[in-house]
Amino acid sequence: MGDRVVIIGAGQAAAQLALSLRQGKFSGSICVFGDEPHQPYQRPPLSKKFLSESAAPESLFLRPANYWREQGVDIGVGIRVERVDRSRQRVVLADGGEAEFDHLILATGTRARELRVPGMALKGVFSLRRIDDVLRLRVALDDARRIVIVGGGYIGLEVAAVMRAAARDVVILEAEDRVLKRVTSPVVADYFDALHRRRGVDVRTGTGLAAIEGEARVTAVRLADGARLPADLVLVAVGARANDELATAAGLECADGIVVDAFAKTIDPTIFAVGDCTRLPSRRYGRRVRLECVQNAIDHAKAVAASILGHPESYDPVPWFWSDQYDVKLQMAGLGEGYAEALVVGDAPAGKFSVEYRSGDRLIAVDAINDGRAYMSGRRRIAQETEAIVSPGNA
Ligand code: NAD
Repeated sequence: MGDRVVIIGAGQAAAQLALSLRQGKFSGSICVFGDEPHQPYQRPPLSKKFLSESAAPESLFLRPANYWREQGVDIGVGIRVERVDRSRQRVVLADGGEAEFDHLILATGTRARELRVPGMALKGVFSLRRIDDVLRLRVALDDARRIVIVGGGYIGLEVAAVMRAAARDVVILEAEDRVLKRVTSPVVADYFDALHRRRGVDVRTGTGLAAIEGEARVTAVRLADGARLPADLVLVAVGARANDELATAAGLECADGIVVDAFAKTIDPTIFAVGDCTRLPSRRYGRRVRLECVQNAIDHAKAVAASILGHPESYDPVPWFWSDQYDVKLQMAGLGEGYAEALVVGDAPAGKFSVEYRSGDRLIAVDAINDGRAYMSGRRRIAQETEAIVSPGNA
């Protein structure tokens, strides 16, 4: 086992990998480089509680800085890796420094997808991915009454809930014919659409954004159909893009994510990739998937640590996700895409129900609304019913 580990990216996956290596008695050096100016932190609260509170960034840190020092994990914050030199097994930093590795792990995550419309550079236009985005948003929100959110996905809906609690006027512009289309079925999307409308959000589906208008700062948005809506603040939340440019430049295979095998290895035996930035083979679902969730960041990192520690385990998760909006908890397990049948179980009008997605005789996914039991039992059944159904060669 080589003894120098370098991790690019300092998010949840990087932190877990370092922790798991030390828990597994890895005695070599562990060096983490992250371009954000913060210690590794948890991202889920950014679009929820952290946005509405005045809590400091430290409240989100996964471990205090001295913990990493005690563990002999060198966390370099505010450091950008410019290049991976595979032939010399080193990474080259923006300041010209270098770090040598025996194992390199790309944990570069995703970034907010950009929209190409006029006015994106105006003051008052935001995306939300990092602590610093939220710190800026908090300040801007003090003077903003009319909020336009572009994108009715997880971030769009979670932020809309926070904004309504703060009595702001909120419009959601969703390009597709329903909200949450990437992640769930019409029945669940309709539930959340109605929930937000009841809480006073102006939800507009099938609506494209043509331009953001204003002099120095945003004052309005123009829609594809020519309509104009006044706006003090625009949040663009139209999805995530894998940060796979370093890997591409290093000659590693990428396809909207760094392509890895069932052990998180790239085509270079010294280089792994973990978490949101990867496209991994799912035998359960018979295809390659890119998973944007905390579960994947943590469990994928544990699998890489096991490989480095010399007892590799193949990784084929039942992914799970959650979202909090107002007083509603959505919990999802599995991947429902391509389901043949959706069965609603429970009391939908009362707001406590689940939807089971089947393909043939297999349960492939479940969405539970305020129903933790249905979620837990669904997750267990999905794990059993999707296990090793599809041969790895197809994935
Ligand atoms: P998303 O993919 O969940 O939703 C993006 C939405 O924007 C989609 O509904 C899409 O149809 C819509 N859209 C795309 N182009 C558009 C356009 N031009 N005009 C209007 N709408 C458009 O992505 P997100 O909400 O931006 O979240 C980004 C990332 O953060 C994702 O990885 C997400 O999984 C993660 N996240 C997850 C959670 C959670 O799991 N609860 C919470 C926050 C963020």
